[in-house]
Amino acid sequence: MYNAKAFSAASATSPLASTTIARRDATDTDVQIEILFCGICHSDLHQARNEWSSVMPTVYPCVPGHEIVGRVTKVGSAVKKFKVGDIAAVGCMVDSDGTCPNCKEGLEQFCPNLTLTYNFPDKHTGAVTYGGYSESIVVDQRFVLKVPSNLDLAGAAPLLCAGITTFSPLHHWGVTKGKKVGIVGLGGLGHMGLKFAHALGAHVVLFTTSPNKKDDAFRLGADEVVISRDSNEMAKQAGSFDFILDAVSADHDINALLNLLRRDGNLCLVGAPEKPFPVSSFSLIFARRSLSGSLIGGIAETQEMLDFCGKNNITSDVEVIPIQKVNEAYERLVKADVKYRFSIDMASLKNA
Ligand SMILES: [Zn+2]
Ligand SMILES: [Zn+2]
Repeated sequence: MYNAKAFSAASATSPLASTTIARRDATDTDVQIEILFCGICHSDLHQARNEWSSVMPTVYPCVPGHEIVGRVTKVGSAVKKFKVGDIAAVGCMVDSDGTCPNCKEGLEQFCPNLTLTYNFPDKHTGAVTYGGYSESIVVDQRFVLKVPSNLDLAGAAPLLCAGITTFSPLHHWGVTKGKKVGIVGLGGLGHMGLKFAHALGAHVVLFTTSPNKKDDAFRLGADEVVISRDSNEMAKQAGSFDFILDAVSADHDINALLNLLRRDGNLCLVGAPEKPFPVSSFSLIFARRSLSGSLIGGIAETQEMLDFCGKNNITSDVEVIPIQKVNEAYERLVKADVKYRFSIDMASLKNA
């Protein structure tokens, strides 16, 4: 074990503060990474404040962060994929059993024995896993990704959660040239959805409640912008979409969105409003429509997403902050006051 600097929450109500955590020494199959940037995901805030206490109660101290990009500083003797100096990334998962049907199909995110990057029992240390708000991390090579050399690293970090969360469903449901795709909500997830759907060649329509987001939506890849509160504008789009990616976490009218789908169209949820949706059976039955959900993506698909980003020069639009501003960033995140993701410059941890 060795000591690493980190930022952690000591309780649900305490601000994040500088601390030291114990990391394991790299085993034969491990990659040790000096973290350069870590994105801030809304999940970080939920977990740090124990807002998911019924499903995933937080163990303190909690070190959040699962959008990690860094430089390899050590590799185990059995590691072939990486060498010291490589730029590598880690997302939401750091381990799985590797033997269940999900793992065998490259869908590790659905493994019943998955280990998440933070606040999850850590079989190596006996404590919980600690995330990316830290100077370094040690991860089994199976869960370490390669970052294309042309990508800006601050903007690449959010690809590891916001990126794969939106890329995977677009990819899985066959979004390509000639398809009409809706993206609902322009936040951290939605802005990645727009970039990916556009790069995949689809005709992309952004649905938003905020008219002032129009210019940004066009810049990020939208072909059309529809104000979802305007029933005339919505009616014009009825029955025309192959696929809709719904990235909104606030309560909203799901049936109005389902009615935008054509026959056999699919509406996929990646946002998670607290209240259950009242889904009208008629919205589904009369056009054989589907309502679905999606969770991040498998490791192979995450690599595919990063390679796609390399080819198309896609990164997240980020505001880079020092770790000392993380609590302020959380307050702004609650107000959706960021375009479109915070990325922490981990060099700042040296002065913390
Ligand atoms: Zn996340
Ligand atoms: Zn498994």
